[in-house]
Amino acid sequence: KMEEQGNKIRILDRDTINKIAAGEVIERPASVVKELVDNSIDAGATEIRIEVETGGKHSILIRDNGCGMSRADALLSYKKHATSKLTRIEDLDTVSTMGFRGEALASITAISKVEILTRPKEEITGTKMVIHGGKVLETSDAGTAPGTSIHVKDLFYNTPARRKYLKSDRNELAHITDTIMRLALANPGISFTLLSEGKQIIRNTGSNDLFKSLVNLLGPDTARSMMPLEYRTEDFEIRGYISKPEAHRGGSDQLYVFVNTRPVTSRTISTAVREGYYTKVPKGRYPVAVLALTLDPGEVDVNVHPRKAEVRFSQEKEVGNAVVRAVEKVLSEHGLAPEVREKE
Ligand code: ADP
Ligand code: MG
Repeated sequence: KMEEQGNKIRILDRDTINKIAAGEVIERPASVVKELVDNSIDAGATEIRIEVETGGKHSILIRDNGCGMSRADALLSYKKHATSKLTRIEDLDTVSTMGFRGEALASITAISKVEILTRPKEEITGTKMVIHGGKVLETSDAGTAPGTSIHVKDLFYNTPARRKYLKSDRNELAHITDTIMRLALANPGISFTLLSEGKQIIRNTGSNDLFKSLVNLLGPDTARSMMPLEYRTEDFEIRGYISKPEAHRGGSDQLYVFVNTRPVTSRTISTAVREGYYTKVPKGRYPVAVLALTLDPGEVDVNVHPRKAEVRFSQEKEVGNAVVRAVEKVLSEHGLAPEVREKE
């Protein structure tokens, strides 16, 4: 009919809208892992276990010992814009949770087959929900340990265009491993276990000791080449570890940056780290660095990216300068100071 009239524009149906929106948040299995682990962290979990099969394409199972959900909350949790973490736009200035958009569960359940088992500690029975492609197939009482377990099967089963872009199992698993590495380094007080095809890939006990986590996650050799860093200004605090200049690597992915415990990327910070080493690290090579920034949540915008990866600071330049100075300070304390240079 539309062709007869020569019209081209039409409003997409709800199902298509939901699938497109879901694709913005969920790009690959690692995005599911990140969103679900974020939720477990927000739920106050101290133990998070992740089991994946075929790089997460066929199965991702996440179990936490967090606060769990009541029946009523579970029934709302998978709906779009359903969140317990934000009520007004002003809350964005103080939000300290990993999530706040109420999009993750809605997106994941729209494009996979999900089973949720959840129980708050103080309740006797838990809730089981089965949701396929956004449709609830089952809601029932279920016996389950306190906390939440979410099983995501057949990701993108109803969005073949997306499924086509998935890489090999190995490649997708590498993304998942990197995601958990970053989350574990950002939260050394939480115990993380990652299994793939039943085999343990990551185990960090949640000792709350960042150095132990470095040994565990980056390996003892890398950990031994790292020097502690602590730097404070009036407005923020930087803590972490940076490698001796000679322990450089080929890729910039050896930089682990956390802002208020959220793993992020920040061009300002990666540039500043390299700048701090000045000529001590050859061009095209990168030091290993784990940096945790703490600052007023109102001074950082985590809302710039749907997946909340790239952050912006209201004092971008000051943050950059502080990182440069923090790195320089550690290097000079260890007699590794870059040769004197002109300060602009
Ligand atoms: P957001 O994290 O932005 O609030 P989500 O779609 O990720 O949105 O989750 C929706 C809501 O479901 C959360 O606000 C939270 O109340 C609840 N929820 C999700 N996962 C868990 C979990 N593992 N434990 C407890 N509650 C959860
Ligand atoms: Mg969330």
